[in-house]
Order: sequence, then C-alpha cells, then structure tokens
Amino acid sequence: MNLQEFMQKVKARNANEPEFLQSVEEVIESVWPVYVANPQFKQANILERIVEPERIIMFRVPWVSDNGEVNVNRGFRIEFNSAIGPYKGGLRFHPSVNLSILKFLGFEQIFKNALTTLPIGGGKGGSDFNPREKSDGEVMRFCQSFMLELFRHLGPNTDVPAGDIGVGKREIGYMFGMYKKIKNEFTGVFTGKSLNWGGSLIRPEATGYGTVYFAQDMLATRNMDLEGKTVVVSGSGNVSQYAIQKVNEFGGLVTTISDSDGFIHDPEGIKGEKLEYLMDLKNVRRGRVKEYGEEFGAKFYQGHRPWSIKCDVALPCATQNEINAKEAASLVNNGCICVSEGANMPTVPEGVKLFLDNKILYGPGKAANAGGVATSALEMTQNSMRLSWSREEVDEKLRTIMSSIHQQCVQYGTEDNFINYVKGANIAGFMKVANAMIDHGIV
Ligand code: NDP
Repeated sequence: MNLQEFMQKVKARNANEPEFLQSVEEVIESVWPVYVANPQFKQANILERIVEPERIIMFRVPWVSDNGEVNVNRGFRIEFNSAIGPYKGGLRFHPSVNLSILKFLGFEQIFKNALTTLPIGGGKGGSDFNPREKSDGEVMRFCQSFMLELFRHLGPNTDVPAGDIGVGKREIGYMFGMYKKIKNEFTGVFTGKSLNWGGSLIRPEATGYGTVYFAQDMLATRNMDLEGKTVVVSGSGNVSQYAIQKVNEFGGLVTTISDSDGFIHDPEGIKGEKLEYLMDLKNVRRGRVKEYGEEFGAKFYQGHRPWSIKCDVALPCATQNEINAKEAASLVNNGCICVSEGANMPTVPEGVKLFLDNKILYGPGKAANAGGVATSALEMTQNSMRLSWSREEVDEKLRTIMSSIHQQCVQYGTEDNFINYVKGANIAGFMKVANAMIDHGIV
C-alpha cells in the first residue's frame, strides 16, 4: 500500500471528519519514509492502528437552565492512545465541538505528549455546550451532569483531562467537585486545578509561556531573539494572555489580540495596565476585546483576523484553521520570520506549505504548545508525591522541556540546513509511540 492508498482508506473510514483527516494527512506525510524504512512498523500494521482511537465515549448531557428550561448537549471523550501513559488531553466546551474536531485534537495530542518526554498518552474530549452568556449556576449544573457520565472513565492512572477552549479553572473546579463526591476520593484526576486544592504553579501560564520559549529557541537558530520584535497574537484567552506576558518580558511588542468578533490593533503594545485590563476583562468580567478598544482608543476590526498587520513574529493562539492560505501569504509578504503556534492546527495545509517553502521559522502546535500538557504532567507528578514545587522550579522544568522538544525537532527535521519542525515533531513523536505499541504486542 502506498501513501495515497493508505489515505484513501482512512478517508473512506472517516468520511465527514475533515479536521481529523487534515491532521492525519499532515502526520502521515511526514512519517511515511520512516514507516517504509522500518519493516517492523509495517509488520505490526502500526499506521492503521495508530489512526484508530482505542475508545470513543459519546453521551447525553441534560441540564436545566435558570428559567427552568431542559437542555441537552452532547458529551465526548476520545481515549486515543495509551501506549506511553494514561490518556491525557483537555476538554473543550464550544458550540463548534464535534467528533471530527475532537478526533483531530486527540490525534495531535498523541504525538505532542510523546514529544514532552513525559509518560502521557493521548486523549481529548468536550461538549458542544457554549459557556458564553451562561450564569455560574448553569455552568455548574452542566459540568455536574457532564461528570455524572464521564467520571466512570477517568482515574489518575487511566485518563486525566485538563482545560481547553471554554474550560478554565471554574469549569475544572465544578467537574472535580462532582468527581470527588461520586467517587468519595481526592485524587489527581484533573490538571489545571486551583492552587488551593492540588494545582501546580505555572500551569495556567504554561502553554503561552512555552509557545514563546519555543519561538525564542527557533529564533536562536538564526542568532536572533524577541527583543525589539513586533509580535501579532490572535485570541485573548488563557494561551494568548500568558504568551503576551512572556513576549513583554523578553522585550517584544505585542500589537494585536482577537476573539470571535474581530481583532484589536494597538501599535503602542498590549502591556502593563493594558494587559492587566485584558486579563480582568476576559477572566473576571467575561467581556469582549472590543471593550479593550473602547477603553484605550485602539482600533477594532470587526469580523477580521489580525494576520494583515505587519509583524516579525506571529503567535496564533485562538483556534484551528484560523490562518488561511491568503493570510499566510500576507504574513510572509509583510516580512514575518517566525510563526509559533499556541493553538492546535491554526494554519491550513496550504499555509503551512507556504511557510515551509519560504523557509520561515515555523513551529507547529504539537511542538510549540506542548508546554501546557507538559506542565499538566508535572502537576500529576506533584499530586502523586503529595507536594508542590515552587514557581521557579516548575518554570525551569518547562523551559528545559521546551528546549528538549526543540532539540528533537532539530534532530529529526533538519534538511539542507533548514529545520523542518513539522517533519521533526511528527517523526520524533511517532517513533516513540510506535515503538511502545510494538513492545505491547497486538492490543
Ligand atoms: P480560551 O477559551 O481561554 O480562549 C480561546 C480564545 O480563542 C478566545 O479569545 C476565543 O474567543 C477565541 N476563539 C475560540 N474559538 C474561536 C473561533 N472559532 N473563532 C475565533 N476565535 C475563537 O482557550 P485557550 O486559550 O485555552 O485555547 C486556545 C487555543 O490553544 C486552542 O486551540 C487550544 O486547543 C490551544 N491549546 C490550549 C492549551 C491550554 O493549556 N489551555 C494547551 C495547548 C493548546 P471567543 O471568546 O470569542 O470565543
């Protein structure tokens, strides 16, 4: 079977799952030469096995809104691959959530988690529930109903979810509370917990910080750094906020933020009291970036994304496929030299090709945003040891893990003096998981 025939088979089996097929194609294209060169992978039929989730759980989530209305959402957990550790990956609550999106996220998670060097398998889950404009009580009742089914599939050595879009420390708190009540057990079955009850310092910051550390490592290969660079960021949630904070620390100037309504361009930089305002706006008041524009007199571009703004570095931190081919071309033509992905699969395949053809420093999400899940694994370690490491200790470990991920990409992705981080990340992650699957036999 050649690559095309393999992809045809995957497409036939997973019709109507475009995001999942997109993520599979990207990985398989990179690893195909390795697959062909290693007969043991073929003999164990690793590729067909690796694209099939070990288990998919889909369930009904009924809940009652404040006005007494009965609502139903759909809950999911994709337990994709446990070859190197318990299933690990976030829960996403967003109206766009469906099987295809969660399967793509779960598939990416397998290789990302392998790259962290830590013992965690790949999983992802969530619901098409929209927490926006819901009361605290409604969010709590939804989370409790969601857990009434999901609890039986979780466990500190089985499956340990975390947050993602629409799931922050409030939602994790409600879900953990329900889990603890049902199981009568206080265990590290979630990460991203509050500090008071088992969370890790630096976990909230980790994905954003890690994405920026990865950008620094990429820039260093060309004797550059973030000092004095103009940086365009998308999104305004967890990942974006801490990416902005870290860019500011490194002396860069962040000029944009966005949400699903549009983007803000603030040429003076999103820093100091402006960043504090943004964090309060998004995390406490749950407002929109438009209000930032009104507060500080910065221009709001309704219905647009920030990629037309001239920059040296781009950090997409909102969602999948948020940089289309035209926007990728606009970044390259405007002189962008580095893209480090805080979000998962934010660039469409044509855009990725453009970045690679133009030899810019392009860090795909599964490498650049792995700091979040790596720090989640550090939270699991602290929970099982029943102790807490200091901020400095966790940050140091995060820094070291990001450098090790970068190093693996260099090792497997260097071709003619150019580091192809897509190839490097895919091959390094795949080798580890595939070899573990062979060790375990046909299971
Ligand atoms: P948040 O919910 O905190 O923030 C998400 C941000 O993205 C919001 O600004 C949101 O705007 C925007 N957004 C979401 N969906 C869309 C959309 N369809 N179109 C335009 N804007 C959108 O999520 P996170 O910051 O946690 O996650 C952001 C990205 O980072 C995701 O791709 C996630 O998978 C990835 N990631 C997150 C990790 C983590 O630790 N949290 C770890 C690794 C990756 P609005 O308010 O309008 O919805």
